[in-house]
Amino acid sequence: MRQDGLYWGPMTQPRVVPVPCLSDNYAYLVHLPGSTDTLVVDPSEPGPVEAALAQHGLTLVGILATHHHMDHVGGNEALAASREGLPIVASKYDENRVPGVTKLVNDGDTFDIAGLHVRCITVPGHTLGAVSFVIGDAVFTGDTLFIGGCGRLFEGTPAQMYDSLCVRLAALPGDTRVYCGHEYTASNARFAAVVEPGNDAITKLAERAKAAGQNKEPTVPSTIAAELAHNPFMRVREPSYKARYGSDDPATVLGKVRAEKDNFRG
Ligand SMILES: [Zn+2]
Repeated sequence: MRQDGLYWGPMTQPRVVPVPCLSDNYAYLVHLPGSTDTLVVDPSEPGPVEAALAQHGLTLVGILATHHHMDHVGGNEALAASREGLPIVASKYDENRVPGVTKLVNDGDTFDIAGLHVRCITVPGHTLGAVSFVIGDAVFTGDTLFIGGCGRLFEGTPAQMYDSLCVRLAALPGDTRVYCGHEYTASNARFAAVVEPGNDAITKLAERAKAAGQNKEPTVPSTIAAELAHNPFMRVREPSYKARYGSDDPATVLGKVRAEKDNFRG
């Protein structure tokens, strides 16, 4: 990218290193290949992030918070304590509930950090301050879009989640890499198979999740195109969903799919 912010030629895409945290969370180191400056997305705890920084020889220059839940921001202050002035970015909505936040962003805001160009998309639904960060061909979706699923509606409405998933995130290029906040793929694929039996993309997702689990490997990243093919929450406009849930309104259908998933034990 040029200093004036205009792109030219093929862009160097960021390298993304998943950092497993807590029981099933992911933090992510994001940096340009060849640069040691790195961002971390959603550091729920400092230990695994510090270990990954040391392992990869990277220098932390900023934190991005997708939302205020402690299993996404619990490591902010410990990581910032030994790095004076470390920027911590979160939604303006979460001004008073993301620890250590230094930079507040609104929908559509862009900024440059660690040699990377970051674009913010507000995605209310799981929480009202949820934001996704687009960096090159990657998007960090926190607990809004999971592989094969979405987050619970703790604060937002089905209509908000529909807009976030099926309008805003769905508009990203199909080959955009999707990095989400939790490893829930196996369970999500089992639920998806109940909602939409006979969908080959869901069968493939279940097989992929099973193989990853056996090899103790993450299922991230997915892509936007793959999510549109196998994620029930992004498929609520399909005729079979209208029939199963008895509504022509996709936001209403999404709410019903979400309620069914909330009670799913599989
Ligand atoms: Zn959350």
